Amino acid sequence: MIPYGRQDITDADLEAVRAVLLSDYLTTGPAVDAFEAKIAAAAGVAHAIAMNSATSALHVACATLGLGPGDTLWTQPNTFVASANCGLYCGAGVDFVDIDPRRFTMCPDALAEKLERAEMEGRLPKVVVPVHMCGQPADMDAIGALKRRYGFHLIEDASHAIGAEHKGRPVGSEPDTDVTVFSFHPVKIVTSGEGGAAVTRNPDLAARMALLRAHGITRDPARMTSESDGPWYYQQVDLGWNYRITDIHAALGASQMDRLAQYVDRRHVLARRYDTLLADLPVETPWRDPDSRSAFHLYVIRLDAGRRRPVFEAMRAAGIGVNVHYIPVHLQPWYRDMGFGPGDFPNSESYYEEAISIPLYPQLTEDEQDRVVRVLRRELRA
Ligand SMILES: *Cc1c(COP(=O)(O)O)cnc(C)c1O
Repeated sequence: MIPYGRQDITDADLEAVRAVLLSDYLTTGPAVDAFEAKIAAAAGVAHAIAMNSATSALHVACATLGLGPGDTLWTQPNTFVASANCGLYCGAGVDFVDIDPRRFTMCPDALAEKLERAEMEGRLPKVVVPVHMCGQPADMDAIGALKRRYGFHLIEDASHAIGAEHKGRPVGSEPDTDVTVFSFHPVKIVTSGEGGAAVTRNPDLAARMALLRAHGITRDPARMTSESDGPWYYQQVDLGWNYRITDIHAALGASQMDRLAQYVDRRHVLARRYDTLLADLPVETPWRDPDSRSAFHLYVIRLDAGRRRPVFEAMRAAGIGVNVHYIPVHLQPWYRDMGFGPGDFPNSESYYEEAISIPLYPQLTEDEQDRVVRVLRRELRA
């Protein structure tokens, strides 16, 4: 089976993990600091808070920005459920903004229209979460301008997009963005096994995210409400969670970060090769934005809705591990119970009817890629 995505583990990764296992710190040690330094450098900002998943990072980011009951978070429907669930964790409501059918990310025109209506009705969102679908950055200039006008907080879900760039700026460094979140799940661009991070240029947000990652407990006398009782002393000054990443995972992630540029380059080479190999087939290949550079987490093709399922099943039967990203979140039973349903977000729904993610990962060979295309060609001609 050729999977749709797969991690790459080198001897350097194995050695990094082994060194941590034999060291004094399995958690809250220097490997976490080293991982965070590399993430912050890649994102072009001063602060990175590594956690045990991107889901945790999204939750902590929302909580840090004060999202709570009576507030609303808006994201796009075609994303992993975590981009929306983080709002529910905080007791807030969730709503969605449809996607741009070409970019697969939040449509700025749909956002502008929905904001205009929400302002009149006095129910503006507190947090907006665009998702850099497939590694393709959303139109952050347009979304940032809307943030300045309406005053919501902006969290970029860049789970697919570490190493991507928008107008020459690394994803994570957009001037209008409060927090950007990365995932280090094994199918993503770099992996720590499980893991995620929140990055920000704002030192106050960084400090609160670090606090909420670990129970809201501090050992910093400057943050305490009273004089320290002694060298053992700590205070809980906020309500957080245990979302820490271990040094074992951080060591793997840090070692992988050394190959970030190489991975994204390789994904581009393979993506261009797919573009060429698929050019004469009745499929829509990914759109390329001249203003940004995708991280190419996923290579999604679109075909006639009627042919998607038979083609998908035939490819799986032929050992090609295709997948579909994503079932629109608003159509999940949990969200339908809130009143969402079919027809609410037509671009996301037709995208879902037509999309197939075909294999793309750094170690995919040209022979394997040719096999993927051969099977696809056979099924489309059938
Ligand atoms: C993978 C993913 C997440 C969740 O990441 P975890 O690290 O598995 O928690 C969130 N949002 C998107 C868009 C993702 O692809």
